[in-house]
Amino acid sequence: MSMVQNKQIISKIYTFLEQKLPIKIGVNKKNELARLIYEISQAKKVSLKEIAEAVDVDTIIKDGKSNLFHKIKKGLIAIRYPSFEHGDNLHLMPLKIRDENIECKPWDFNLKPESIFVEKSVKDMIWTCEFIKKFPSAKVVVINSFAEGARNFSRMTPVEIYNPRRENIFLIKNKSAFIKICPCTKGCVRCGYWILNVGFGCPIDCTYCYLQMYSNSPGIILPANIEEYFNYIVEFDKKVGKRTRIGTGEFTDSLALDKYTNYSSYLISFFRETKNLVLELKTKVADINNVLKQKPHRNVVLSWSMNPDHIAEKYEQGSSKIEARINAALLAVKKGYKIAFHFDPLVYYDGWENDYRNVVEEMFLHEEIIKHTVWVSLGSLRYTPGLKQAAEQRFSENNMFYRGEFFVDELGKFRYPKELRIDMYNKMTNWIRSFKTHAWIYLCMEPEDVWAGTLLNKEDGFK
Ligand code: SF4
Repeated sequence: MSMVQNKQIISKIYTFLEQKLPIKIGVNKKNELARLIYEISQAKKVSLKEIAEAVDVDTIIKDGKSNLFHKIKKGLIAIRYPSFEHGDNLHLMPLKIRDENIECKPWDFNLKPESIFVEKSVKDMIWTCEFIKKFPSAKVVVINSFAEGARNFSRMTPVEIYNPRRENIFLIKNKSAFIKICPCTKGCVRCGYWILNVGFGCPIDCTYCYLQMYSNSPGIILPANIEEYFNYIVEFDKKVGKRTRIGTGEFTDSLALDKYTNYSSYLISFFRETKNLVLELKTKVADINNVLKQKPHRNVVLSWSMNPDHIAEKYEQGSSKIEARINAALLAVKKGYKIAFHFDPLVYYDGWENDYRNVVEEMFLHEEIIKHTVWVSLGSLRYTPGLKQAAEQRFSENNMFYRGEFFVDELGKFRYPKELRIDMYNKMTNWIRSFKTHAWIYLCMEPEDVWAGTLLNKEDGFK
């Protein structure tokens, strides 16, 4: 399905509503019905006619105009959200697909920036010169500050800004927030993770990525003063007093740009000196050549996000294939690194069990992976209304949002019902544990009551 076809379907739905309904309904009501019809048509691959028949629109119309909108909406909800109960928040927001030109173009693992904006304060640094040398055809623009460089792009919408981000690289001097606690989500059990901020912006295009909503940067931001991180890491290591995980994968993929930044070689050597801190380099790519050149040590863990192949292909555009990620993990182990995995987001659809069990089996059929995996996280697909609207404008294939039921939680995020999440976590836990791995399994961004329903103990942790 292309973006143009999606737009045609939406336009047909609005025409249908206008022609079929014997009364005029307001814009918001029309938008709600259109969203329900669109999601059903996408998820179940059924025509407008079939949906109208399933809801029995003709009989509802014959019954008279009173309560017409509510009756049709109720019928559509029964199809799209069979477990809906009074009080559940569905947040049926308008469909905003409006321009095929903002569909994203996938990344091919090669950075080809048109412009490199360089803050004056870092322009003579060795790291900066090395980085710029790799892109002889890029225009280099010296700026006083990131804000000054970003001003040229300020008239663009967040989606328009996000798509061409790989064309503009900002080399800056990071001055603050080198290390911060993972913000997690209010009301969820924290796993004690910390974030080392080595840049902002990721070249990979995951449909579910919150950065496409959160980012207002017109390019990928990379700190040139990577050497200065050492002192902050050493100071923080003294403060924590116990084994603590810290990762660089919050605002970017830890290794997707490593062949250009070479950050891994700096970080791996910095963490060689730490007593408590363990660095996690979390990625969806298989190119770990720079990491393999470094001597491994116990304070560095390489990790991969995992999903069934077809999910990765559709919804993690520009990432490495799952088989390649597993092979990279094997190379890391062979070199002497500890490894970890993240099944986050777990995506629900008919037949998810088979696919996810297969991935677990593909991974753990390797003795080395059973033995050297130190943690596995589980998290289910979650997103804000804004993210869903942004993804709908950027990707023509969005079925991950339309299969399975999502209800808005207290914090405004769409999530699968708790019972379903618990079931998914328990099945995953059983499949993983059947391989007798000692890996610590934990949930990401889940509240106490979800933990309590699972086979996992929230008091366990990384030792
Ligand atoms: S559970 Fe996930 S989101 Fe929460 S602190 Fe840990 S890594 Fe961060």
